[in-house]
Amino acid sequence: MAVGIYLHIPFCKSRCSYCDFATDVWRSREAVERYVSALCSEIRNAKFEARNLVDTIYFGGGTPSLLEPKHVNQILETVRSKFNIAENAEITLEINPATVTAESLSAYHGLGVSRASFGVQTFNDQHLKLLARGHDANDARTTFRLLRDAGFENVSFDLIAGLPGQTVDDWRRNLEEAVKLGPEHISLYLLEIHEGTPLAEQVSSGRRPLPDEDLAAAMYELMIDRLALSGYVQYEISNFSKPGFESRHNTKYWRLDPVYGFGVSAHSFNGSQRYSNDRDTAKYVRVIEENQRAEVFRETTDAASEFIFLGLRLNAGIDLDEYRQRFQIDLKEDYRDEIERFLDDGLVEISTGHLCLTKKGMLFSNEVFAAFIPDKDAAAIAN
Ligand code: SF4
Repeated sequence: MAVGIYLHIPFCKSRCSYCDFATDVWRSREAVERYVSALCSEIRNAKFEARNLVDTIYFGGGTPSLLEPKHVNQILETVRSKFNIAENAEITLEINPATVTAESLSAYHGLGVSRASFGVQTFNDQHLKLLARGHDANDARTTFRLLRDAGFENVSFDLIAGLPGQTVDDWRRNLEEAVKLGPEHISLYLLEIHEGTPLAEQVSSGRRPLPDEDLAAAMYELMIDRLALSGYVQYEISNFSKPGFESRHNTKYWRLDPVYGFGVSAHSFNGSQRYSNDRDTAKYVRVIEENQRAEVFRETTDAASEFIFLGLRLNAGIDLDEYRQRFQIDLKEDYRDEIERFLDDGLVEISTGHLCLTKKGMLFSNEVFAAFIPDKDAAAIAN
């Protein structure tokens, strides 16, 4: 089975008000060069039983588009020296508006980057300010044009719904503008308020309203209907694409295929175990330079359970025969009570040998997932 590679680039121009990712503000070229060297060392020194075939590579962050093309090249060359890269591999780079030029985009494309995951978030300048995104809607429009000019034919927009003060009409305008620009893929994120972020402080002090869950649900339903009208297929709870442009890399997570992560805070799944690296960039660089491992967490997963609640995220759902072959258990027998209850409530359906969420089930997906996962993971998802 071909594997995916995730590469974490932990630098941003500034910190957005809602962000709790492992990312640092870009300090100096030296710090970035040191990080890239450490990342390449981690890749080179990783031990695998076989030389794996890789068919997806994903530069996530952070803001990977702050990397100079020579850094992207250095990292890709290191990956190529360690793995067999499929000829048609999907290579994605996350790009934020106003962090690139025509030259840098052309250079990335020339290096084999075939897909851009573009952090638009919203086309409303007031909301971009609230999020402290450091760019405006015009920057997003200009960068999108540059992406097309550079030859990117597979672009995904990230959009955030449920912002404090955002109305359904605001959201409708966002969708209209996104559809007009016509990227091949659109991902929806519902705003989450993370403790310790400036936005959490603004909400708890009453300076911003709490995001409204009913409004967010209305925005979600509007998105499903509006994007369908423009030929986007919803292939996952929060992801929509033109046919043939589903994210191959992210689909690996939902199908429980192996993905090896490198870099600070990177997570990996090797088919039976999940493990992850330290979240502190300075510490990550130090331990790698000392020839130690940056791994700080490892656990053996309950693969059968994960296969269900991750697979249910996909519109295609779970292939019941595949489940039986993979885990030697009959899913319908093993979860007979839960499945009957969800069928009665109209939250799931079984069709052509697949168990899937219904449209209503997507709105109550956490309730469904919780029935299939061990208690500690259920608590994590509910939170
Ligand atoms: S660009 Fe993304 S990773 Fe960077 S601070 Fe903003 S939300 Fe966080």
